[in-house]
Amino acid sequence: MNAQNSKWYLRVAPDETYWEPCAHKAGFHVTFARINKDSLKWQEKLTPLQQKMEKRLAELIGKPYTERKVTFHLPDFIDIVVNSGDDRDPMGATIGQSLPNWGKVTAEGRGRTVAMSNLYTDPDSMEIRRKQAESLLSKETMAVYADSAVPGLLGTILHEATHNLGPAHEYKVKGKTDGEAFGGQLASMMEELKAQSGALFFIHELSAQGVIDKDMANKAWIDCVVWSFGHVSRGMYTDKGGRKPYSQLAAIQLGFLMDEGAITFDKAAKAANGSDEGAFTVHLDKLPAAVEKLMKKVGSIKASADRGAAEELSKKYVDSEVVPQKLITERALRFPKASFVYALDL
Ligand SMILES: [Zn+2]
Repeated sequence: MNAQNSKWYLRVAPDETYWEPCAHKAGFHVTFARINKDSLKWQEKLTPLQQKMEKRLAELIGKPYTERKVTFHLPDFIDIVVNSGDDRDPMGATIGQSLPNWGKVTAEGRGRTVAMSNLYTDPDSMEIRRKQAESLLSKETMAVYADSAVPGLLGTILHEATHNLGPAHEYKVKGKTDGEAFGGQLASMMEELKAQSGALFFIHELSAQGVIDKDMANKAWIDCVVWSFGHVSRGMYTDKGGRKPYSQLAAIQLGFLMDEGAITFDKAAKAANGSDEGAFTVHLDKLPAAVEKLMKKVGSIKASADRGAAEELSKKYVDSEVVPQKLITERALRFPKASFVYALDL
């Protein structure tokens, strides 16, 4: 079954591992959704480029990683009807998945990647997201913000694609998988950091090759930054002290891009809403070089299983105030959040 021969999507199987303290055992979920055929045109555009993307990434990362043949399916878009089991969170939901995480099915390129295309598209969620963005971004950057699901979906597609590129799944250094080399939690965070760095990096690559236009690239980047604010606002660690992979990668990316001057925070600047003091500006012209540097760094750490360098990244940006985490949290959490709305156009 695929997006071309079925109207529906049903998966009853092991889910992600990040809900579990050691990030090793999979949760179990039921996902029932309707196929959204909009993904087909993205698959048409990007499928012929998969190997090129792998080649580009391998060259950027360099040794010991070498290009391998990649076979994976770009995400099918699914409009969620019901999420059950371990992926039915009280707040929020997963917006993209490439499953299973490892094992024979994945190694043979038979995994399935999906992007949940109807989440956060109801009018209330869209309005709250805009207000959150306006409270943190400068007027100049907010002018690029789009009230549309497409830029976010593009980020999700590229994030999920990058899970299948570079050092992934069954990649080993001196006989050790990433879980063995980094420890489950750090490995899980680094894999998500790789995937999201890939989203930022390939947005530029695709626009440079004319696959997407510059305007879409800019909107997708701003969407990724707003996505990062949301994750930072959820805190870096669980109640039990476990790493929250998305929150931590969000802090690392924001911090890294701030150090590169691609994002600046001005304490005295007014945010786009005109009332908050202290705002972020994204310098779109500086992003291409900065995201390439980020991708190279993260990819090399994974490729050489350099645990020390991964811990250093985390220490530098997660356990510090390089990124004004408290300020982001205060502004993002001002707005009430409904438990969840699955918006479906019938
Ligand atoms: Zn991911």
